[in-house]
Amino acid sequence: MEDLRPLAKRVAEELVSSEFAVVLTGAGVSTASGIPDFRGPQGLWRVVDPSLFEITYFYRNPLESWRLFAARFGSLREVKPNPAHLAIARLEQMGLIKAVITQNIDGLHQAAGSRRVIELHGNARYAVCTECGRKYPIEDALKAVSEGRLPTCPVCGGLLKPDVIYFGEPLPPDALQEAFTLAESSDLFMVVGSSLAVSPANQLPVVAKSRRAKLIIVNMGETMLDDIADVKVEAPVERFMPMVCAMAEDMLSSTSECRSSAGLT
Ligand code: ZN
Repeated sequence: MEDLRPLAKRVAEELVSSEFAVVLTGAGVSTASGIPDFRGPQGLWRVVDPSLFEITYFYRNPLESWRLFAARFGSLREVKPNPAHLAIARLEQMGLIKAVITQNIDGLHQAAGSRRVIELHGNARYAVCTECGRKYPIEDALKAVSEGRLPTCPVCGGLLKPDVIYFGEPLPPDALQEAFTLAESSDLFMVVGSSLAVSPANQLPVVAKSRRAKLIIVNMGETMLDDIADVKVEAPVERFMPMVCAMAEDMLSSTSECRSSAGLT
């Protein structure tokens, strides 16, 4: 396999010299955790009719819609973060990444330890009340569904819905606003595991680039924005990101050693 180390070093250098790096992730970051890419050749939408995940279908047939959700996404609670999630979380702890914007609904960035995570499509580990907006861990809702009951809000009695964005629903405005503000503020924008086929997430790198941020894309396969990337890395993200993380750690520790030997600390 191609030696990825020179590219990993380049990306680590960009991260270490950046002031405000932001990461956008897509399905490709979670495939190594066993979650299929929705749109890829083995993707979910090849085997499931997407119209069953339209918001109008949910309100017409809530129990049936919940059953479909449980069958397809109930097992998400058991999946674990992979080395790509862990590397991204570690880079945030090191202060090299300010935030992660994700199109994924699996909650794996938080499970890996990432703190500032902006979820554009919601989180399948939670249920949200369609009346009052309160959120709950999804377990109780799934239990109700398995017993043939509609899950309802313990506070107001409203119908609960999986806290994910269904087809036909707007993206959460607060998350969207925060994502665009982060993209505008970034001087390094890094895409990890997304083919950038879905709008509006694929506008974020363009916004960042228009504000003179550098754009790094790490993805297996072409993306819609390869042409405007400063660095494009064609590699499995779960292999490449830990290399970047390790090299950045080395760079930071050597930086501090140089500083102390130069009497600067
Ligand atoms: Zn409620």
